Amino acid sequence: MVAARLRDVASSPVRDLLALLERPEVLSFAGGLPAPELFDLGGVREAYASVLSGPRARLALQYAPSEGDPSLRALVAGRMTGRGLPTDAGDLLITTGSQQALTLVATALLDPGAVVAVEEPTYLAALQCFQLAGARIVTVPGDDDGVDPAALGEVIRQHRPTLFYTVPTFANPTGRTLAASRRAAVAEVTADAGVWVVEDDPYGELRYRGEPVLPLAAAAENVLYLGSFSKIGAPGLRLGWVRTRPAVRPALVVAKQATDLHTSTIDQAAAAAYLSATDLDRHVGRLCDAYRERRDAMIGALPSVLPPGSRWTDPDGGMFTWVRLPDGYDAAALLPTALAHDVAFVPGAPFYATAPDRATLRLSFTTPTVDEIREGLRRLGLALRHPDAQADSGTPGTMSGRKPVDSWTRTGQIASGAR
Ligand code: PMP
Repeated sequence: MVAARLRDVASSPVRDLLALLERPEVLSFAGGLPAPELFDLGGVREAYASVLSGPRARLALQYAPSEGDPSLRALVAGRMTGRGLPTDAGDLLITTGSQQALTLVATALLDPGAVVAVEEPTYLAALQCFQLAGARIVTVPGDDDGVDPAALGEVIRQHRPTLFYTVPTFANPTGRTLAASRRAAVAEVTADAGVWVVEDDPYGELRYRGEPVLPLAAAAENVLYLGSFSKIGAPGLRLGWVRTRPAVRPALVVAKQATDLHTSTIDQAAAAAYLSATDLDRHVGRLCDAYRERRDAMIGALPSVLPPGSRWTDPDGGMFTWVRLPDGYDAAALLPTALAHDVAFVPGAPFYATAPDRATLRLSFTTPTVDEIREGLRRLGLALRHPDAQADSGTPGTMSGRKPVDSWTRTGQIASGAR
């Protein structure tokens, strides 16, 4: 029998689904993966070669401090400061991907039974993490502009959460961005109540239009900012970081020691060498150029593919659009039909902490080419017109009996971020 803390934590359907997508003929909009052909393979290869051939080569294979490689921390701090979030190298804890940062934060801050407030829908591996820590999840309503600060205030008054978890910029799964005008209000309402904010920001640099917004952490001291190289570098490096705050830093370092002593020495050294030798902004610019085209191809094709009455987000950046099919559709029931047509997506239900809206699904536009996006969406359109697609057509509303997300606009698209 496994430990009680794991019994109620479901396996990630996204990861399970990825395992089923081995067939090469399937065009997949399912994974939130960066495009592998855009990895800077040459630059990364050189970085590892230089680390392994220089005078400090043997040190790169040695144990290292739990907080992380000092040069990498200094380089990341410089980058964050440049993006408008003043950061000292000493503020940073390097983690094995930002996923580990979530685990460390949960370990350091959450007692069993603690309350965690989240947007809904939200990143499902964060939900897993909080559930594993024995937390009770409560949800905060929002709209096209992200979470509603007044509603957050009400949730805080009612449930006294320890922390509020949010992906405020180009969210997974919705693609939405918390409006600049709301950031100060979210910071204020949480700071006043002594609630930690965990700002998970792996996508913020992948902006395809509009002006950058400052991280939430720039507006208040009670924000733990989580960053990652996965989407701007490569996820296989498994490198992320937390911008800690003094009150919680020692606890996070102890949690890190107990979890894995430290993140891989050689991978950190290679990342530091890479950042010193490369213009990462230029690389991110190339990623944005490619992803913008793919985003445009997907958003442009959706009106002719989805059934009338469907709605979807129109993200300014990131990797995802979030679709709501008309009442009566069940995205999970549609998936086998879609797979039979050699196209894949992720049903939306697992991203909900409470009652799921089963008519929702997530489409990622970053890995397929523009031609593959058009072809994949053509197949999705065929699947949607298949008689099996409307599994729940007799039931008005969604299967859960929940009202559809009321923030969708009537035009079929959700404006997000600056729009
Ligand atoms: N947070 C969010 C919102 C994500 O979408 C992801 C990856 N899909 C992560 C964290 C984990 O990223 P990493 O590779 O840095 O562990």
